[in-house]
Amino acid sequence: MDGRNDQSDLESPEFLRMSLAAAMTLGFKPGVFYRNARLYCINLLLTYRNGCAARCAYCGLSRNRPGIYQGKSFIRVAWPTYALDEIIQRIGERREKVKRICISMITNKRSIHDTNEVCARLRSSFDIPVSLLISPTILGYKDLLDFRHAGADKIGVAIDLATEGLFDKYRGRGVQGPHRWNTYWRTLKDALDVFGKGNAGAHFMVGMGETEKEMCEAIQRVRDMGGSTHLFSFFPEAGSVMADCMPPPLDQYRRIQLARYLIDNGISRGDRFGYDERGRIANFGLPRDDLNRIIDSGQPFRTSGCEGYDGEVACNRPFANSRPGPEMRNYPFPPNRADIQRIRRQMEGKNTLLSFELERATA
Ligand code: SF4
Repeated sequence: MDGRNDQSDLESPEFLRMSLAAAMTLGFKPGVFYRNARLYCINLLLTYRNGCAARCAYCGLSRNRPGIYQGKSFIRVAWPTYALDEIIQRIGERREKVKRICISMITNKRSIHDTNEVCARLRSSFDIPVSLLISPTILGYKDLLDFRHAGADKIGVAIDLATEGLFDKYRGRGVQGPHRWNTYWRTLKDALDVFGKGNAGAHFMVGMGETEKEMCEAIQRVRDMGGSTHLFSFFPEAGSVMADCMPPPLDQYRRIQLARYLIDNGISRGDRFGYDERGRIANFGLPRDDLNRIIDSGQPFRTSGCEGYDGEVACNRPFANSRPGPEMRNYPFPPNRADIQRIRRQMEGKNTLLSFELERATA
C-alpha cells in the first residue's frame, strides 16, 4: 500500500505509519538525504481512524489540528501508511541497514494492545532491538512489564516541556488536553524501574518559552533518575495551534545541545553551570580548554537518540525538526571541520534563524 492512496481505513496493528525518512530507507519512497545522511532506525507510528485523543498545541497529530489523522504530518514530515507484513519483509531484505526499530504510541486505548502485538512480531522476525515511545496517560505499571515481555529494550517518554507550567499550558488544562505533568514523570520512573537505568529517558523540545536554566534542570533531573534525554527543536507544524511561532534561536539550541551532552555523559552538571539574569547559560562549569575540545569533537551537536547494538546512535532522524541545509539543528552524521566552525559562529549568535526568516518573508 502506498502513501498516496486513501489511508483512512488502514488501522494498526495490521498497518502502521512510518516516517518519510524510514520509508526512504526501506525503499518505499525514492530519494536521498542531504549530504548523503543515512538513517539506521525505522520509526513507526500506530494509526487509527479516530487518531490521537490528545490536544498538544505544538503537535501535528493533535485533535485540535484540522484534517484526518492519517493525513497529518508529524515532526515536520509526512508519515505514509504501510502493511506490517510488508514492513517486516523490507526490513528483512535490508537487515544490514537497520540497527533499531521504534514504535510510537498515540493517546488511544487500542495502542496498548497493538504495541505489544507489533513489538512481539518484529522481535520474532529478526534480532533488531525495539524502542517504544509510550503514552503515559493511558498506561499502568503492568503495561510496562508487558512491553518488556514483548521484547522491547528501551522506553522513551516525551515529556517535551521543561516545566510543569508550560506542560499544563500546552498539553494539559491549557488546551483541554488529558495529559498531566506528574503522570509523565511517574511513568518515566516506572520505566527506569522495569527496563533498568540507562534504558529509559525523556524527550524535551527546546523553544517552548522555557529558560535555558529550566531546560538544564529538567535534563539533570532525568539524568539523576538514571535516564538520558533526546533533544528536539520546536518546529511550527502548519495548521497547528502554534503554526505562527518561531523555532528557538540557534545559539540557544546549540547551548542546550552542549549542556545535554555534558549532563548525560556526567562531564558537568546543570547546577554547576553559570546562568545570567535571563536564565541563559553563561558558563558550563568546565575549564575553557576542556570545553573547546568537546565542542571541536562535534559530538554534542549530533542527534541524541537510541543506539543500536554497536553503541552508535541509530535513531538519528535526519532533518526531522529542521530543514535540510547548513542550519540543521541535529546533525545526523559527525559534523566536519566546516560544520564545527559554523556551529561556533551559531553559538555566538551569528546567522541564527536567517534562512527561516527569509523563507517566511518570501513565502
Ligand atoms: S499525545 Fe503525542 S501524538 Fe497525541 S497530540 Fe500529544 S504529542 Fe501529538
